[in-house]
Amino acid sequence: MSCVRENYCTECEWSVSSGDHPVPERTQLAIEHAVTTGHDIDCILDTEEPSTDAFAVDSAEQSVD
Ligand SMILES: [Zn+2]
Repeated sequence: MSCVRENYCTECEWSVSSGDHPVPERTQLAIEHAVTTGHDIDCILDTEEPSTDAFAVDSAEQSVD
């Protein structure tokens, strides 16, 4: 699962963060901004996640039952 923390425009001050909108809404807003302005949208990924390996092992144990 990808965790996008924030979507922002590389050409102006436009941005939406996870505190303002849920992910699908941010994606839609980012697309709309790109389409209406012709600007490029980039995103900041959440890099503070714990190890994905440890998380996968935990999920596997739960699904065994
Ligand atoms: Zn822009």
